Amino acid sequence: MDTRFSCTGCGKCCTDHHVPLTLSEARDWAEDGGQLIVLLEAFLDDGEGLHNLKLSHGQQEHARRRSLPVMCGTAAAHVSITFAAYNVGRCRNLGEDNRCAIYAKRPLVCRIYPMEINPHIPLRPEMKDCPTEAWETGPALIHGGLLVDPPLAELIEHSRQADRDDIADKARICNELGIHTAALKGDGFTTYLPDAAAFLAALRRVDALPADAKGLQAAWDLHIPDPQLAQRLAETGAMIAAILADDAMFISLRRAA
Ligand code: SF4
Ligand code: SF4
Repeated sequence: MDTRFSCTGCGKCCTDHHVPLTLSEARDWAEDGGQLIVLLEAFLDDGEGLHNLKLSHGQQEHARRRSLPVMCGTAAAHVSITFAAYNVGRCRNLGEDNRCAIYAKRPLVCRIYPMEINPHIPLRPEMKDCPTEAWETGPALIHGGLLVDPPLAELIEHSRQADRDDIADKARICNELGIHTAALKGDGFTTYLPDAAAFLAALRRVDALPADAKGLQAAWDLHIPDPQLAQRLAETGAMIAAILADDAMFISLRRAA
């Protein structure tokens, strides 16, 4: 059955959603005075952080492609870094009339919603903010399980490619900002709210790095709230952060027992 879609302009997707940004979008967002949030997760090369999520082979490959190989103690790990627009409440660009004030240059993810960027996650309308009527009219979005809008497919591919292209510089910017602690994938995210001026200064320093310094990557550690899991991972050589830095927060993805 086809999935039809027509945006009603309700503005819900622009409210209380941090919007993942490409690196160049993050630069624009900070230069425009917007607040960024940095979200970090990591998994170990031996699969810790992936196996517990019971990810398909395709999902695991996707996670590896958008992450950066780093060292975490003596353990090889992969860190994923998202720079996102910090949208608590209404997005700073959402007008009273629910129109986007930067519509012509809105971020890629805003253009792609409600489609998924992860190729291994099927679109599930019930998981989206769009009202029921948005799925009742408009052209077919999905036909036979496939996206039928070529320009939209191109935007999604662009977003995936930016994820891969940007990851090393994102890690360098984190290094410049003193950020080196990630949560274990599936456990949650460590998050940071960098000052815009500090973020832009870090970005400029990374831009100016000589090519022969670009290959150097800092060591990372993991924030693991569960003491037993922390102990088990430490025994594999993973570096566990003793405490979370004052400017960091942890967003748990675990359900309360
Ligand atoms: S930038 Fe525009 S489209 Fe994107 S979340 Fe903000 S208001 Fe919505
Ligand atoms: S939540 Fe859906 S229907 Fe509402 S503005 Fe966003 S994309 Fe359009």
